[in-house]
This record gives sequence, C-alpha cells and structure tokens, in this order.
Amino acid sequence: MSEEKPWPDSIRAGECEQHEPLVRRVLAPNPSPYTFTGTQTWIVGAGRDVAVIDPGPTGSGMSIGDPADINGVGHVDAILRAVEGQRVAAILCTHTHRDHSPAAAPLKEATGAPIIGCAPLALSDDGPRADSAFDPDYAPDRVLADGERISGDGWTIEAVATPGHTSNHLCFALVETGALFTGDHVMAWSTSVVSPPDGDMAAYMASLSKLYDREDRVYYPAHGPAVTKPRQLVRGMLGHRKQRERQILRELEKGTSVIPEMVKQMYKGLDPRLTGAAGRSVLAHLIDLENRGRVARDAESWRLVA
Ligand SMILES: [Zn+2]
Repeated sequence: MSEEKPWPDSIRAGECEQHEPLVRRVLAPNPSPYTFTGTQTWIVGAGRDVAVIDPGPTGSGMSIGDPADINGVGHVDAILRAVEGQRVAAILCTHTHRDHSPAAAPLKEATGAPIIGCAPLALSDDGPRADSAFDPDYAPDRVLADGERISGDGWTIEAVATPGHTSNHLCFALVETGALFTGDHVMAWSTSVVSPPDGDMAAYMASLSKLYDREDRVYYPAHGPAVTKPRQLVRGMLGHRKQRERQILRELEKGTSVIPEMVKQMYKGLDPRLTGAAGRSVLAHLIDLENRGRVARDAESWRLVA
C-alpha cells in the first residue's frame, strides 16, 4: 500500500505528490525554522469527492517584521489545481495556527465546501494567549468532537482530540488505511512547540500517550516526512519530554532559577532563532511541575519546593 517518496523533499511548493492511493500532498511556499520545508496540505480521496486537511497560510510574506504574514502566495490555487475534476466535500483544520487554517476561508469561497474540524480558540483575553501565531478569523461550519466521523467517496475520517500544542488540536485518522494526519502534534523532524498559556505540557503528554495506545500504520504530519514507525517515535518523544523535565529539576537544584539561563544550559547548539520557542517549552514544563506541587515561583524566578 505504501508508496512513500524518499526524503528530503523531492517536490517544490505548489506541486502535488501522491503518497498512497487515497492520499496526496501539496506543499505550501512557507519554509522557515518553525515550518521546516513548509506546511503540507493533505488531500484525502481518489473518487468523486475529497477532504482537504490543513489548507495552510494566506498572506504574502512581504510584511517585514510581521510574524502573522506567512507566505501563502499561490497555495489555494495549487490546491484547486490538485483537486480539479473532484468536489471538495470538507475543509479540515487540525488547529488554528496561521500556517494551517487561514486558507480555509478562500478555499471555502472557491469550492463551497464547509470548514469542519477543530474548534475556534476561545481566547479569554487579548494578552499573551492571543499570540500572533493564532488565526483569529477561523470560522468553522462544524466542530468535530473526539471520535466523530465524516465520510466521502471511499474515505472515512475520524477526529482524534490531541490538545497540548494548542488546546484545540485535532489529529485526523483515515479509517480505511490506518493513516493518521498528525498536524503539529507529532512530527519527525522536530519536537512540537508547547507555548503557554494555550499550549499545555500535561495535556500534550496525555495526547502523546493517547497516540501510543493506538495502532496507526503511518503518520502524515503537517511539516516534514511521513512517520513509518509511529509508536516508536511517540515512545521516544515521551521519553524526551521526561528527560527535559529531569534536566529542569537538575538546573533548579543547581540554583538556576530563570528560564533564559535554563535554555542556555539545556539546549546546546540550538538555532538562535529558536531560543524563544525553547523558552516557551521550558515554561510549559515549569507550569506543569508547579501544578504538581514540585516547583514554585516568585515573578520570573523559579525554585524547587522542598
Ligand atoms: Zn501549530
């Protein structure tokens, strides 16, 4: 069944590549340290109708200094070319980061297909939670709860709730073939950014365990290569996060109390453009430890609870 192509990427942005009979991929033109070679839009279905998962970014990428302006030029047209002759039955979004969901609206306009999938984020304030990486305009026609299914010509997709990277994150299982579209929850090229307050480390770990208990054959993430040994990767990721937690506890023991200093000690050789994201993940671990009564804080300074 598997016809996976070799990696690194053999296709350019805008091209469509078949991965297995029911699954195609169109790469968006937004490579970056956060998106790897770009967002991958997955198209499911080989018959009369298809589902489009993570339609991707809009924006020109030309507003220098505006992290919300991710390059999505031509991506909706590329999706429309890929599905020519088929009806788009559903536009599915795993979550509402700006490299995943903004193209849902223009794709809906072009095809008339409903937007189905994750919930919009109910942001309770305009503070740090309304981080610029979120798409505030996402407006689904239908929200899928964990285990809910939609189907088309020869395909059935089931929502698998996986909060953690964001509170509204869903993976989508293709029931017929055992493929799981993992969005940003599990990727092979990088660990996921878990950025509080919307990102939640305890929820993320629980969502990893949830995938570990499943029997999926292959993962198709929103960024980077397909994962052909899913449970092995997930087990490694669970171990990696537990190791990070132990590192943080060790740093606190040594008297390191502020996050930038912990990042310096824990992430040797990190791409400097990613130090901010690493700091967010350390914060996510610290909040989890705080909730479990292991650490406490005074303003920016963290300590072990004796
Ligand atoms: Zn994301």
